[in-house]
Amino acid sequence: MILVLKQNAQQDKINKLIEDFHSKGFATNVSSGTSHTIIGLIGDTSKLNVDIVSSIEIVETVKRVSEPFKAVNRKMHPEDTIIDAGGVKIGEGLFSVIAGPCSVESEEQVIRIAESVKKSGAKLLRGGAFKPRTSPYAFQGLHADGLKLLLEAKKVTGLPIVSEIMNLNHIDLFADVDIVQVGARNMQNFDLLKQLGQSDKPVLLKRGLANTIEELLMSAEYIMSGGNQNVIFCERGIRTFETATRNTLDISAIPLIKQLSHLPVIVDPSHATGMRDLVQPLSRAAVAIGADGLIIEVHNDPANALCDGPQSLDLEQFDNAMKDITRRVEFENKIM
Ligand code: PEP
Ligand code: MN
Repeated sequence: MILVLKQNAQQDKINKLIEDFHSKGFATNVSSGTSHTIIGLIGDTSKLNVDIVSSIEIVETVKRVSEPFKAVNRKMHPEDTIIDAGGVKIGEGLFSVIAGPCSVESEEQVIRIAESVKKSGAKLLRGGAFKPRTSPYAFQGLHADGLKLLLEAKKVTGLPIVSEIMNLNHIDLFADVDIVQVGARNMQNFDLLKQLGQSDKPVLLKRGLANTIEELLMSAEYIMSGGNQNVIFCERGIRTFETATRNTLDISAIPLIKQLSHLPVIVDPSHATGMRDLVQPLSRAAVAIGADGLIIEVHNDPANALCDGPQSLDLEQFDNAMKDITRRVEFENKIM
């Protein structure tokens, strides 16, 4: 339920109203715009009578939110949310590039890549330590040691780090990770989402291989309804009949999610295509269609990468791609 307050509503009356709703067990999302304050009420509002709420002195209008996603909904929070991840801001007006290897393989590898992508303009470093692999015989990541190496690279370069969590019992290991990634295969791991909702750690929520946009929004709702407002969506391609690319980038998802939600949306052109030659063209498309950033796989030696070599750019290819991306971001009047 959304309450638009009267223009001249006094702050003490607004505070009292919010307190009243909290005491009745509702969570609130308050947006103070230039002319009106909007209170988004979250919880079971089915028993609230719209006419009674409308008659409150400082309330101008009341609307029910029909969509099942509430906290995530742009109607609850008309302005774009900007998320602070280790000092780097992600969201409207900005464009943030996250880059790094699919998997952390060694100290030398991750530090070399981190220094290089930083020079090329990446603002955050990615690197998998716990890898969800289709085959149990494939490299599974360096686990806690991988996270330590990533933290080492953060210390050397100052880049905030992004890494995937697969198991809710590992949350303590991610204490110093700046953005926790929930991978496509865990988008509906509801226990994990609930646990992540208990902190304020930024979460990069990737769309599942065969999940709808509404399911993606509902997964973010799990995190936000627990109290964590720091969710970033990632469109990383979905399964279709097409086998020429690893997945099919659902480019229309980006403006659609931004219409439906106030949260930032970034694009992963690496997993969307599985092919390094397509990473730069899809990055351009992401910039043009209004994405808030990119997450790109980069490796110093893609031919010998332990995971996702064919879709990884080498250091020079990434540097060239960034020159192109930077020009296009400037054209969109965004700040990188
Ligand atoms: C990854 O980012 O390395 C990854 C496994 O991504 P996804 O969950 O999108 O497949
Ligand atoms: Mn990968």
